[in-house]
Amino acid sequence: MKLNFKGLRALVTGAGKGIGRDTVKALHASGAKVVAVTRTSADLVSLAKECPGIEPVCVDLGDWEATEKALGSIGPVDLLVNNAAVALVQPFIESTKEVFDRSFKVNVRSVLQVSQIVAKGMISRGVPGSIVNVSSMCTIRVLSTHISTGSTKGAITMLTKAMAMELGPHKIRVNSVNPTVVLTDMGKKVSANPDFSKKLKERHPLRKFAEVEDVVNSILFLLSDSSASTSGSGILVDAGYLAS
Ligand code: NDP
Repeated sequence: MKLNFKGLRALVTGAGKGIGRDTVKALHASGAKVVAVTRTSADLVSLAKECPGIEPVCVDLGDWEATEKALGSIGPVDLLVNNAAVALVQPFIESTKEVFDRSFKVNVRSVLQVSQIVAKGMISRGVPGSIVNVSSMCTIRVLSTHISTGSTKGAITMLTKAMAMELGPHKIRVNSVNPTVVLTDMGKKVSANPDFSKKLKERHPLRKFAEVEDVVNSILFLLSDSSASTSGSGILVDAGYLAS
């Protein structure tokens, strides 16, 4: 998708791999200045080579104090993509405190924290903005063993709506993108069992999972003025799965 983000500054979390990495590349190619936030420094080094001029920030977003230190003074941001997340797989009955807490810290609390930092800046500058939370189709359909991830993404649905309500009068839009399985590192891990993967794919009317590019295109659309009247909403990128 060819959109023009020249003159705008974007912040993308989980920028080192998968959907976040390709989102950084697409925003960079569309003229935006990009702050790329992730946890593994080597990913930022290679990304900066591919996208000269990006601003790399290495931080564990599950750590509130470290995130405040790294991003508290990040400066003006017009577009925010809350993409970083973990997918820690456990059945409900075996779910542990550690996995549940870690999932909520990274997948939900960091969205609150980073969005607060960015939205405060937008409000004090009096500029419009767009925030996209990368969620999942598992807000609607249970994916077995994804108890913690599914719960965090369910929370993101209401966080997205609540942010849209409160930030709307400041001309800040907030939406989500909800993909089915995407074969990134995360997607390969969660669909590693070939039998499970085959059966799951067959339940998708399009008989495929989603491509990274399809998710990135929806993110860019929601960031752009092409979706100027959309807020508190979400785009399913699910190959028809939820219709099945
Ligand atoms: P990947 O695991 O491929 O990439 C996730 C990125 O987020 C990595 O760069 C990772 O860094 C970073 N990250 C994870 N935890 C933290 C943290 N605590 N602090 C900073 N950075 C962190 O995932 P995807 O690209 O597949 O997923 C992106 C988004 O899409 C997520 O929100 C996910 O829930 C959602 N999604 C993905 C689906 C899929 O099948 N892939 C399906 C539905 C939704 P590092 O590797 O260094 O930890």
